[in-house]
Amino acid sequence: MSLPFCNVALPVPLRTTFTYAIPETLRDFVQPGNRVVVPFRRKSLVGVVVECVPHAPEGAKIRELTKVLEFVPALTPKLLELGQWIAGYYLAPVGEVFRAMLPPVTELRTERQIVLTDSGSTAAQQDANATRPLNPQQHALLSQLTEKGGVMPFASAAKLGLDDAVLHRLRRAGLIEIRESMLGRKAKTQRVIAWKGGGEESGGGKSEKDRESRARALDEKIGGVKAALEARGPLPLAQLLRVAHVSRSVIERMLRDGLLESWEERIDPAEDPFDAGYVPPAHELNAEQESALKLVRARFELGEFGVLLLHGVTGSGKTEVYMRAVQETLARGKTAIILVPEIALTLWIGRQCRAWFGARFEGVAVLHSALSDVERAREWWRVRNGDARVVVGTRSAIFAPLQNLGLIIVDEEQESSYKQEETPRYHGRDVAIVRAKMENAAALLGSATPSLETYHHARSGKYELLTLASRVEQRAMASVEIVDLREDFAKTLQTSPISATLHTGIQECLAQKTQALVLINRRGYSWSVLCRSCGASVQCANCSISMTHHKQRNRLECHYCGSIQSVPKQCPKCQSQYVYFFGEGSEHLEERLRKEFPGARIARLDRDTARTKRQYQETLGAFAGGALDILVGTQMLAKGHDFQRVTLVGVVSADSSLSLPDFRAAERTFQLLTQVAGRAGRGQLPGRVLIQTFYPEHYAIQDAVRQDYPAFYERETQFRRVMAYPPFTSLANVIVRHTDLEKAIRWSRQLSQYFSPHDGKGLRILGPAAAPLAKLKKEHRFQFLLKSPKRSLLAKVLGGAMTYLERKEIPETAVLVDMDPLSLM
Ligand code: ADP
Ligand code: ZN
Ligand code: ZN
Repeated sequence: MSLPFCNVALPVPLRTTFTYAIPETLRDFVQPGNRVVVPFRRKSLVGVVVECVPHAPEGAKIRELTKVLEFVPALTPKLLELGQWIAGYYLAPVGEVFRAMLPPVTELRTERQIVLTDSGSTAAQQDANATRPLNPQQHALLSQLTEKGGVMPFASAAKLGLDDAVLHRLRRAGLIEIRESMLGRKAKTQRVIAWKGGGEESGGGKSEKDRESRARALDEKIGGVKAALEARGPLPLAQLLRVAHVSRSVIERMLRDGLLESWEERIDPAEDPFDAGYVPPAHELNAEQESALKLVRARFELGEFGVLLLHGVTGSGKTEVYMRAVQETLARGKTAIILVPEIALTLWIGRQCRAWFGARFEGVAVLHSALSDVERAREWWRVRNGDARVVVGTRSAIFAPLQNLGLIIVDEEQESSYKQEETPRYHGRDVAIVRAKMENAAALLGSATPSLETYHHARSGKYELLTLASRVEQRAMASVEIVDLREDFAKTLQTSPISATLHTGIQECLAQKTQALVLINRRGYSWSVLCRSCGASVQCANCSISMTHHKQRNRLECHYCGSIQSVPKQCPKCQSQYVYFFGEGSEHLEERLRKEFPGARIARLDRDTARTKRQYQETLGAFAGGALDILVGTQMLAKGHDFQRVTLVGVVSADSSLSLPDFRAAERTFQLLTQVAGRAGRGQLPGRVLIQTFYPEHYAIQDAVRQDYPAFYERETQFRRVMAYPPFTSLANVIVRHTDLEKAIRWSRQLSQYFSPHDGKGLRILGPAAAPLAKLKKEHRFQFLLKSPKRSLLAKVLGGAMTYLERKEIPETAVLVDMDPLSLM
């Protein structure tokens, strides 16, 4: 079994693995999936063992690996397989894929432990007459282990005078296991209460009279506690007090009477302080939710892979369906992943999951990129060690090392944040489907505005379609109105980003003491700086894009590369004084709102004001808690939040996203408008949405006004079919880029020579042309667009291109391949 060589995937832009020799002493420990440290050129790198092999390739100089990072292979066999699929499909170096899948290598304080297995404990009880007696050393170790309750530190084996070889033999014989366990976390605990009594009070010994009076006083409260615990299972004390509306003394009394039991339970490290007072809503499912859940259940019962699309209008209660689906998955002894499109939602859904499952099952882990490296590694290993059975996270949480996966939920599956815009350029939703298939699990995609691709599959029967057509409790959808900015201008001759209609709407909101959301999809003060004399605009020095003016910071910023310039007093080209700022951004809008509504409490939420998780939460918390009247911001506002007192949503400019040179522009606009309209009228109060636009005729806007997804789908698919765009064809975007313009041109010509014989044979190849972003971060960019109804053909031709690049010695880093691109910029 212990082979002398292994092939290691390294995080370098090369599409091969590398063979290393395994030192004799480590051979027992190296398995596929292990992270190892190896010498590479003059550096040490961490790589992943892909396979162990008996021979090294001939003639090559083989070096030895230097270290095995952990005894438990970081990647399970399934995840190894998934990584290899990603590398193949997205044409990414496999070592870089694995690096993206794994937590950062950090110095976690771990202790290596020896753990007694079941057969080990049987063996320890054998005597010398057994068929395969243990030698005295081994016997000593096993009895020590038994004495210590089955676990001891690895280091104490050495104190017993045992060398590694003895341990390895025991390990191979399956008598012990070696594992890494995390140190250094103070285990905080909380008291958890569960219902114990069989429904009868154990009031024995007390007088009849006593019992009677107590029953009157307490019956109701006891009933409430019982109902709460039966509906939700064991609950932390603090939470139980809130849910059941009883005082601590009632619980103490019930404990004394033996109706309840309690124990101390470790608090999850992922828990956040907002958890304490949180009580998740537990609604009776309505008929639509119930039948959706039934279909999910039917899928579980089949025990096969399948994709389900939960298409539910905003406010239809999708979260409730997710929670029940996870609950049933856990009840079947399986595990679940919930992917959400942004960090803020991991907090929200994570909190719900902990409230639903945290106390009853081992735990919930939260994974996202805003965790510190150590936190992330720690959460990841908790999952790997089986200490958490539900994972909530953003894109990369799809790689959570859960075993026995039963369900993957992808909330807001259409969100572009699921697509990674750097190598490996994978789509989290698509990987979720592939992983579900590999693990024979169910994938549940949820959205009010599914991507065209997904809905297409649901229509064609490839996915199962579950529909929630109305809001919970028959609440009305918000009424959506268009504000035609041409008319508004004709009437007022003013160029405020806030039309007269929107102004009045906000005023009414303030008078009624309800809340308003105002959306604008650009941040900064003005997004263009132009000279009125010569017409020059201020462009970034590194990118072909205009600089954005940030007034408070008093500078121009490039939103693509982050470069900064001072605000020009005169035109950099012709020195005229007539520098003109135009195109409102969120900063400008906030200023304007403050001017027009001086008494109102206003805050702004965009990437400039919400730089940290904390700022973000504070602003959202203040708004949700009623400490603000108006919240203005970018699309951050549009997603998922469930504000109860919002009666007005204003969209300042619906057009800016429509005019982008991208075949998905209409789809994105429709989605954004529908999502943001869904933020209004979620509570008892009716909602109103005002969409300001210069193109009220556009179908993306018209259909969003009616919140009619199927109508939009029909029109948009016609366009896609005619133009041969997804879902009717597969796309790949290939960008050749270099800081040296001549090289970029030369290489695109060469690549064009490779591509041209393939053009017209089952695929179309457009380009090379200057990319829409012709220059980005100092690099000149040329673009090829490959289209084919047959994805396998695309993959074949692109695979060939990779080999061709190598032969022509064009560096891998100069050619960016984006399979199923979301953006063609
Ligand atoms: P969606 O994600 O579909 O927009 P949510 O899951 O956020 O909707 O649910 C919207 C609101 O409806 C939430 O406040 C939720 O607690 C509530 N809700 C969910 N299901 C029900 C139900 N069956 N009855 C009453 N209210 C419900
Ligand atoms: Zn000028
Ligand atoms: Zn730039």
